[in-house]
Amino acid sequence: MRKVALIGATGSIGRQAIEIIEAHPELELVAAASGSTPIDGLAPLTQVGGDLTELLERARPDVVLNAVVGFAGLPVTLWALEHGVDLALANKESLVAAGDLALAARERGGGLLLPVDSEHSAAMQCLGDHTPEQVHTLVLTASGGPFRGRTREELAEVTPDAALAHPTWNMGPKITIDSATLANKGLELIEAHFLFGLPYDRIEVVVHPTSVVHALVRFRDGSALAHLGYPDMRVPISFALTYPDRAATPVQPLDLASGLTLEFHAPDLETFPLLALAREAGKRGGTYPCAFNAANEVAVAAFLDGRLPFLGIADAVEQTLDEVDGTPARNLGELVAADREARRLTEQRAVAA
Ligand code: NAD
Ligand code: MG
Repeated sequence: MRKVALIGATGSIGRQAIEIIEAHPELELVAAASGSTPIDGLAPLTQVGGDLTELLERARPDVVLNAVVGFAGLPVTLWALEHGVDLALANKESLVAAGDLALAARERGGGLLLPVDSEHSAAMQCLGDHTPEQVHTLVLTASGGPFRGRTREELAEVTPDAALAHPTWNMGPKITIDSATLANKGLELIEAHFLFGLPYDRIEVVVHPTSVVHALVRFRDGSALAHLGYPDMRVPISFALTYPDRAATPVQPLDLASGLTLEFHAPDLETFPLLALAREAGKRGGTYPCAFNAANEVAVAAFLDGRLPFLGIADAVEQTLDEVDGTPARNLGELVAADREARRLTEQRAVAA
């Protein structure tokens, strides 16, 4: 039996995780939490909001699935890593923001860090036991979102409803907007850097509209391994929760005879500047990734409630990154302070816009 604590149980990832857990007798949901929606009876231990590490202390799980959205997921990530409890991580924002602090906690705790993000689950499998020297480049694929192929001018009047209509993935609102701006791929680039220890110039992003190839790894001998499958988050959720067993899922095997074509393009960094801004923030290091994430969270919320235009999201993030000093955080307190300062700067901008 593997005891699972599911944090963020009411969201898109959380609901799909419950389906996976219910289908596997060897997975037992011992604790569940949400941000605000009541979840009485979902698990023996439940909690709505508050300090979620208290729930984890009581639950003593074998694996924590962190499916919270945003920086709010940080305490859950750090608790699991510090305690050596396996962490199935959907909440990419916590790893992007905490970076080296999270990796140091993992080093002390000694548990597994299993990515649930589909590209990173795929990358982990393609990388396997290869050494960093054998790897030429890691390639993350992006669907391109609902506005692929549009020009900047065409995006000026985009509404939240249009941005919330994703072509290949059905997800929570924040990540759906991040997919439309390519900020999601920017966060994933930084996430991949911390997960796999590869420098930024060896992680590439390509647009692949059908989301069938989730990641590729090119090796120094000229070969490449790719991970393919229909876009369905139940696959990486199940992979992380049943690792290394790779349990069955209801997802259909890939049908190659139906005329599957694989198309790849370079991303349009002028129309979608958040991908380039994330790369820059990642390369600068320190708390720049934390500031990128914080500014993006605030700007996305402002866009969703009509206080910022679509293109204003990237502008706000760029200006915040120009204003923060990016000094590395030596501890959690300094990290939280960096997050708060970036939020404050971005919030001012959203009010002024
Ligand atoms: P969602 O908005 O559907 O759900 C978010 C969950 O987090 C909800 O259960 C909510 O109650 C909980 N939550 C929000 N604020 C909280 C707080 N302060 N404290 C505790 N819980 C809180 O989001 P989602 O689409 O399921 O995404 C969750 C995470 O997974 C995000 O980090 C996202 O980037 C990542 N992810 C999602 C997908 C996907 O397909 N949805 C794919 C890859 C990665
Ligand atoms: Mg992803």
